[in-house]
Amino acid sequence: MGDLPEGLAPETLVVAAGRPPRRPGAPVNVSVELSTTYAAPPGSVAYGRYDNATWAALQEAIGALEGGRALAFASGMAAISAALTLVPAGGAIVAPRAAYNTTTAALVDLADHGHELRWVDVADTAEVTAALRGAAALWLESPTNPLMEVADVPAVLAAARASGVLALCDNTFATPLRCRPLALGADVVVHSATKYLCGHSDVLLGVALTRPDARGDALHERLLAHRSRYGGIAGPMEAWLVLRGLRTLAVRLDRAGANAATLAQRLAADPRVDRVRYPGFGAMLAVEVAGDAAAADRVAAACRVWLDATSLGGVESLIERRRRYPGESDLVPENLLRLSVGIEDVDDLWHDLDQALGAAPG
Ligand SMILES: *Cc1c(COP(=O)(O)O)cnc(C)c1O
Repeated sequence: MGDLPEGLAPETLVVAAGRPPRRPGAPVNVSVELSTTYAAPPGSVAYGRYDNATWAALQEAIGALEGGRALAFASGMAAISAALTLVPAGGAIVAPRAAYNTTTAALVDLADHGHELRWVDVADTAEVTAALRGAAALWLESPTNPLMEVADVPAVLAAARASGVLALCDNTFATPLRCRPLALGADVVVHSATKYLCGHSDVLLGVALTRPDARGDALHERLLAHRSRYGGIAGPMEAWLVLRGLRTLAVRLDRAGANAATLAQRLAADPRVDRVRYPGFGAMLAVEVAGDAAAADRVAAACRVWLDATSLGGVESLIERRRRYPGESDLVPENLLRLSVGIEDVDDLWHDLDQALGAAPG
């Protein structure tokens, strides 16, 4: 691995990175390395909790895309919990008021362990910058899940750097094809690779990445030690499936993103919808349907192509009312439906939404 020319575009890297070395007779794909132990004398692997050749290929590919060093974890939350151990003991954490609800729950757990939490509107750069003064860490998510709030990522990360604040960034929604926070100064980027990187709603896996410099290397070693010690490791088959899914990330995202742009435009012009939240890129959007929670539930239930289900980032279109979860922030409107736009025919997706909105008069 690692014999690619410099300067390749991300659309090439998703296809070309993380392949076996080019040798006569060599396979084009890495294998699923199913072994828990390795013959002595211990080489670089020794035991399956420390390293694995299939993880290594996936990490190389995602690392090339994000411009950093990647570590695969069992899930997005396993990567996030490892990243949160990097926050200095007792330090204040600046975080979005409403973000992915399980991340928010994990941050609240940290408050129980002596961390001060400073909740901010991530779209308000002045508010974020003010909160960073004297803080230990910034947790950034942009666009936020599910309110689709967009931070000025370059400005916020520059402010974190200027204040000496550890900057941790969840890049799940944007993906490395739309935003590369390490290059903008983030210390750690995490992904729920369960979503776009895999793209097929069939694998849970997480990734944490650090910058390729001395400070990044030190953070990488701590994340690696955490994974090796506490065991939040990915299965080799799961890593292989994410690498397989990653090969089509660019085309999936282009197609789903174009679908999302068209749907956002049509929904914005529809009187049965009060508000469309669409950041202008990516394939996630949220709509507030006219009416209450029950009206929104009826729309989701009436869909026949869109599936009323949680999760996102797969080839199939999903719709769900986020406030059905008791753990969702009350900043999320009751009538908000989150849409993960897939790669189907856009008119089929539109007609299905159209008939579902018609079935549930607001
Ligand atoms: C789904 C998600 C996570 C959690 O990832 P898992 O793979 O489900 O553990 C974290 N952040 C965001 C933004 C997500 O959408």
